[in-house]
Amino acid sequence: MAKGNEAYDIWWHKAEAVEKKAAFDFCGDYLAFLDSCKTEREVTAYTVALLEKNQFKPLDKILTGAKNQAGSCLLQPGDKVYLDVRGKAVLAAIIGKEPAAQGVNAVASHIDSPRLDFKQTPFYEDTYMVLAKTHYYGGIKKYQWVCLPLALHGVVFLKDGGKVEINIGEKEGEPCFVITDLLPHLAQKQMEKKVAEAITGEGLNVLLGSLPAEKAGGEDNEKDEGEKDEKECGQLVKANLMRILKETYGIEERDFVSAEIEVVPAQPARDVGFDRSLIGGYGQDDRVCSYAALKALLDIEGIPQKTAVLYFSDKEEVGSQGNTGAQSANLGNFLAELCAATTESYNDLMARRCYAASHLLSADVAAAVDPNYKDVQDPLNANYIGKGMVLEKYTGARGKNGGNDANPEFIAALRQLFDGEEIAWQTGELGKVDLGGGGTVAAFMANMGMQVIDCGVPMLSMHSPFEIVSKGDIYNTYKAYKAFLQSYK
Ligand code: MN
Ligand code: MN
Repeated sequence: MAKGNEAYDIWWHKAEAVEKKAAFDFCGDYLAFLDSCKTEREVTAYTVALLEKNQFKPLDKILTGAKNQAGSCLLQPGDKVYLDVRGKAVLAAIIGKEPAAQGVNAVASHIDSPRLDFKQTPFYEDTYMVLAKTHYYGGIKKYQWVCLPLALHGVVFLKDGGKVEINIGEKEGEPCFVITDLLPHLAQKQMEKKVAEAITGEGLNVLLGSLPAEKAGGEDNEKDEGEKDEKECGQLVKANLMRILKETYGIEERDFVSAEIEVVPAQPARDVGFDRSLIGGYGQDDRVCSYAALKALLDIEGIPQKTAVLYFSDKEEVGSQGNTGAQSANLGNFLAELCAATTESYNDLMARRCYAASHLLSADVAAAVDPNYKDVQDPLNANYIGKGMVLEKYTGARGKNGGNDANPEFIAALRQLFDGEEIAWQTGELGKVDLGGGGTVAAFMANMGMQVIDCGVPMLSMHSPFEIVSKGDIYNTYKAYKAFLQSYK
């Protein structure tokens, strides 16, 4: 496979032309996926639709319909099922030849990304403009979110249970939104502050409009209107926004109490570089690994020996808590259901044995060496753009705190699998020991007793509105996930 300079060991240099083309082709649909999936709900809807198209059946409906048929297996090898968890997380599986109680092969990623959320009472008027208060979600550098075209994605639930979906700012001809910043002419004090303090959380207010409501009535009402104007002084622009929201969506200010409105960058994902080898776009942490994992599951050939499981969880960027996060019982419950549905006499021990016998790839992005900031990495233990999928034995901060530390027995078995399939992979840490750190969902699954390791796509500008990854690394990550789901023993 290798030709010429062995020291120049990036995948692009070693790969055959047909493989390089396959990498570019693989990423063709990925750009469209990123553009239509900017929130965890949108990823869930996209994923469920694609699973349905590929003959996956909803597990909850299968179970409901089969309540009175005890004594026979509900699922057979080759059956495909999925579970939509509150519209914000997804589990899917292809039933293998072996009983699920003997362990499954799983890939777990997260589908939430850093962003700004509307507060529940968002709207206010100031200096003849109407704005929305936000509370940021996940680890952002606040200065990256000003003077950037923004879109609003989300849902509003009405008091009567009705649901209104909002998606504005993406399509050609639609307006976008923005957070303003101070002109340099008057920013002397701001520029002297630390970067972390120059833009504040309470300062991330989204500009929504500047037109006042039109005056009602004619000449006769002039005096009444005058009195009214006085009362509403400073609120006419907000009143106009409320009118627009009512007319366009049928929603009122109070409805935002039961809403989730996410403010995200409005620009589309794009090829980056003269050679088009890179992709830039919002939310690739961790939708790049999610997309690779979803494609890997769909591309499994025949019936796998072990049940293949995909888990898209929410809330990773804020610690994975909650009933859609990876710390929930969702994965454990799903595996228990699979055990129960593939045996005639289920008991609780089967699920416990399944967890302990399972292997899981924690599919999340890794930090790549940035040529502008090389000093944050130990070059011997760093990840590089173009060298393929990253295997990370551990994450965490300071003394590996909060991370999973994969067992070398598992890593050895993965080396054999990936090398056998000629998959380009590398290994490295997040960055230098004393500089910081971070975690993934890995530890939560390892707590269940599974063999778990972090592995995913190396990335530049992580958590920014325009994250950068290599097409070659995405393709090799997809191939690794597929090989693992298909044939890890
Ligand atoms: Mn991540
Ligand atoms: Mn992240």
